[in-house]
Amino acid sequence: MMDGAAAEPLAAIFRRLIANTGPISLMHYMGESNARYYTSRDPLGSAGDFITAPEISQMFGELIGLWLADMWINAGRETPVHYVELGPGRGTLAKDALRTARRYGLEPSIHFVEASTALKDIQLETVPGAQWHHDLSTIPAYGPVLIVANEFLDALPVRQLVKTPQGWRERMVVPEGDRFVCIAGQQPMDAAVPEARRGAADGTIIETCPGAAATVYEVAGRLMEQGGAALFIDYGHDQLRDGSTLQAVRQHLKADPFVSPGEADLTAHVDFAALAPIAQSRGCKWLGTVPQGRWLRELGIETRAQALAQVAPEHAAAIHSARDRLIGEGQMGLLFKVMGLAHPNWPGGAGFHG
Ligand code: SAH
Repeated sequence: MMDGAAAEPLAAIFRRLIANTGPISLMHYMGESNARYYTSRDPLGSAGDFITAPEISQMFGELIGLWLADMWINAGRETPVHYVELGPGRGTLAKDALRTARRYGLEPSIHFVEASTALKDIQLETVPGAQWHHDLSTIPAYGPVLIVANEFLDALPVRQLVKTPQGWRERMVVPEGDRFVCIAGQQPMDAAVPEARRGAADGTIIETCPGAAATVYEVAGRLMEQGGAALFIDYGHDQLRDGSTLQAVRQHLKADPFVSPGEADLTAHVDFAALAPIAQSRGCKWLGTVPQGRWLRELGIETRAQALAQVAPEHAAAIHSARDRLIGEGQMGLLFKVMGLAHPNWPGGAGFHG
């Protein structure tokens, strides 16, 4: 495990790089910052910087396991079958999902796509049988894949273009005092902006995430070649919109993304509206993009919460408050979305109808 405190601060590395070669793109800044951030620590949980749905309650992973088992059974119980998780964090979601799936006879091989060496060590303890991959290219090429990504796409670097009086430019990063700021780049970027949006007012920002687009493209390709289904769960929007959504979180509070790069988690809203057509362009079935609260309710989170509370009445209040965090409209229920994809011969999937 790399010791983040002993390494040269990323801010100093950026300053030197920019002094030598000029401004760096915001996408470069975000990518390097998160690579440093994730590989130098465990960011999850109450002692860390943020909490994710699987860390809030076992119900989250269990219902995902149930969804995957239901899909696999209705598609004909084909084996070998592979569970693939992108950015599995502490491995909690996989542990809960696979425990549930096993009860329905689904016992897939387990594959984690993870960049962080610090998190890999924790994942090994949580899910001993898992195999690690740097990217999707090395996961098995035969047998259906059941792919899950929770709060993975939001960590991938975004590119921002800004409309200036001189035309569209990429947003670049330079130091200013003891922090960093964004400026408009020198290179004309008009060709990268769709025709329909080129005439936007000065100051308009368009944000895209090439890494998210590439991930969904690759996942959809795997689903078409091997069969299977995928769930992408993240906070984001399902309508086209303008503006920067870049944000930083540190110790459970919003932080400034342009101070102390590599020390806070940088994320951006996932543009689900852009991702569904990418999957469909490969022939994949888009099951829908629905609010997390609705999806979990349709999968039976209320019943599951009651059952857990009955077994452990002393934890009933905590179980119900965790359920509310996951599905409450002012909490994660509306902002977080679940996007489902599947091979066209696979079922429509629970939670995406109605
Ligand atoms: N899914 C987990 C963790 C979310 S945090 C949960 O819900 O709790 C984001 C995860 O994605 C971390 O595991 C992080 O190390 C991983 N990650 C971020 N960028 C990555 C990249 N480019 N390639 C692979 N993994 C990445």
